[in-house]
Amino acid sequence: MTDPAAAIRVADPGAGERMHGLIAELYPICRSISGAGVRQTLERLGTEIPLQVEEVPTGTEVFDWTVPREWNIHDAYVKDLAGERVIDFRQSNLHVLGYSVPVARRVSRAELDEHLFSLPGHRDWIPYRTSYYEEAWGFCVSERQREALTDPEYDVVIDSTLADGSLTYGECLLEGETADEVLISCHVCHPSLCNDNLSGIAVAAELARVLSEGGRRYSYRFLFIPGTIGSITWLARNQTHAATIKHGMVLTCVGDAGRSTYKRSRRGDAEVDRAAAHVLQQSGQDYEIEDFSPWGYDERQYCSPGFDLPVGCLMRTPHGRFPEYHTSADDLDLVRPEALADSLAKCLGIVGVLERNRTYVNTNPHCEPQLGKRGLYEAIGGRADRKQAQMAMLWTLNQSDGRHDLLEIATRAAMPFEPIAAAATTLCEHGLLREASP
Ligand code: ZN
Repeated sequence: MTDPAAAIRVADPGAGERMHGLIAELYPICRSISGAGVRQTLERLGTEIPLQVEEVPTGTEVFDWTVPREWNIHDAYVKDLAGERVIDFRQSNLHVLGYSVPVARRVSRAELDEHLFSLPGHRDWIPYRTSYYEEAWGFCVSERQREALTDPEYDVVIDSTLADGSLTYGECLLEGETADEVLISCHVCHPSLCNDNLSGIAVAAELARVLSEGGRRYSYRFLFIPGTIGSITWLARNQTHAATIKHGMVLTCVGDAGRSTYKRSRRGDAEVDRAAAHVLQQSGQDYEIEDFSPWGYDERQYCSPGFDLPVGCLMRTPHGRFPEYHTSADDLDLVRPEALADSLAKCLGIVGVLERNRTYVNTNPHCEPQLGKRGLYEAIGGRADRKQAQMAMLWTLNQSDGRHDLLEIATRAAMPFEPIAAAATTLCEHGLLREASP
């Protein structure tokens, strides 16, 4: 079985550039929790990976929620009395409050001011704001733009539609040897924001592309969904199927230069939690592991008590902890090809561990078997990492009592997962290990 996950152990600069290129292409699209921007994004992703696009009609009940009306926007601006567009959606889609209802009229400066959002701390940054569940209209502007509004009146136009339609999401299923699934989920509902939304999309798409190339023990389900309402909708439509999800990760904010952060699943000790901790620890880089909290991204839904799925969240700098978060400064410069490549390598490392992690039983458990007699020294003889290979064998033999999986053994031995997995393969070939019955 070819193992694409094991093939890439270090960040691939080519993949980093490719992912950054995809982000640059998707950057101008005005996405929201529904509408043409999400469809256009999924259409582009469909040229990279096999993607099934689902449409769920407005008004569909999904647990305690209802699929909202679909929002689309064509143009929006504020014109001064000279007829000049002083705030222009065509310059940045962040200028419009997401889900703004249509408006077209002349307003006083004071009234306009009540509908403006800006960031006092950063004079040139445009904030990102939405009003999904409350009807409103508004514009997001830089402090500098706001200060320049000195005319007594302005013409405001938001050419949007808020109407019955559907909620759109994309699903990519890569079938494996078993029906047990690994879920990879990312949100696709933010407009021109790179680290928050586009980085997760790009890494997930690249991960799907790599995994589609080779043999897989698990099936992999990639979800490209609007945040919150998208995962709630998916879970409502797949309530019984969700039990086949054995491991999962939400990918978000995976493109900035900060260290990797992994947020554990609600269970806290799920296999994916241990795999992520192991891969980050073995990376030799600085990293952070956080406990679960019912805040953040769609892990909140996957880890709600009725599902309690083993789904963690892989990030670099978490949301809200970098100043550019939810502003126009979360742009193409904030996300870096090398950080994207590093995040992809970590995903592949975690997937590689999940793919090969198993529990074995030592068939010769009374004292150590004589390795030389069985040709096992020869099996590792010429290798530069001979000492490590030998220790991996001894650890694997000692700990394989049907209760410790290879990942636990690697962690206890403070060794990378690979030599432990390789030792298990060799020991199986020599009849010294057999797989424990589940
Ligand atoms: Zn966000």
